[in-house]
Amino acid sequence: MGILYVVGTPIGNLGDFSPRAVQVLESVDFIAAEDTRVSVKLLNHFGIKKPLISYYEHNKMDKGEQILNRIKGGESCAVISDAGMPCISDPGEELVREAHKHGVKVEVVPGPSAVISALAISGMKSGRFTFEGFLSVNRPSRRAHLAEIQNEKRTMVFYEAPHKLLATLKDMLETLGNREITIARELTKVHEEIKKTTLKDAFDFYSENTPKGEFVLIIDGKSQEEEQYTFEFAVNFAKEWIEKGESASNAAKRAAELTGFKKSEIYKELY
Ligand code: SAM
Repeated sequence: MGILYVVGTPIGNLGDFSPRAVQVLESVDFIAAEDTRVSVKLLNHFGIKKPLISYYEHNKMDKGEQILNRIKGGESCAVISDAGMPCISDPGEELVREAHKHGVKVEVVPGPSAVISALAISGMKSGRFTFEGFLSVNRPSRRAHLAEIQNEKRTMVFYEAPHKLLATLKDMLETLGNREITIARELTKVHEEIKKTTLKDAFDFYSENTPKGEFVLIIDGKSQEEEQYTFEFAVNFAKEWIEKGESASNAAKRAAELTGFKKSEIYKELY
């Protein structure tokens, strides 16, 4: 029986591909790649010549079985994705699960992963964190996901595509309140950038500046302080601002930003 290797590939900088990864790809009988056109560039760069088969979301059932049969027949296979670790918001999970079920040995050749790389340079609490992957493109599902993690105390890490970023920031702001966020963009690439800000400021910024590149969002878990905020506290907080001369609309907005309750709901209680 052969071995199934799960091999990490760079998330932008080819210099991050390890000598062991090259060695393993050179040693296997075939490589199962998410997109063979993407992987062939990596393999050419390192002078690796191996038969490639495609293994992606929509062929994973059929191809998975074929791959396992070949491994059981004595061939070794490396599974790779377009960038980062296979199985992490990328194909591979089912293949690995089936491999274990069939007694196939699975070995990892670790490489970069955007979730860990972003968390490590965020400076946010990393002792305990949750990885939330991609939020749905469908707004109700996205908001349901966010509502589910509203009270999560651990740091939360999300993947996001540039064209969905603004809508996601808006939903996060409305559901989670104005939390601290670190936006890690284009890690290991020329335009790598770390932006430490709040959900509100991030939303304002990207309303004016079109998001470009690949993003990881890291959001603070719910703080103990925030947990004590009740709706009554939010309304009283807004009333205090009105007494200080703020308009009801602005006072409700301030209370909403602090407590995470909806501005419109607080506003209604002010009269
Ligand atoms: N398997 C990959 C990993 O281990 O990181 C993730 C693949 S997922 C399909 C792609 C998402 O990962 C992007 O939309 C982005 O959220 C994140 N990502 C990948 N490369 C990145 C980079 N260089 N900088 C920031 N985020 C990145």
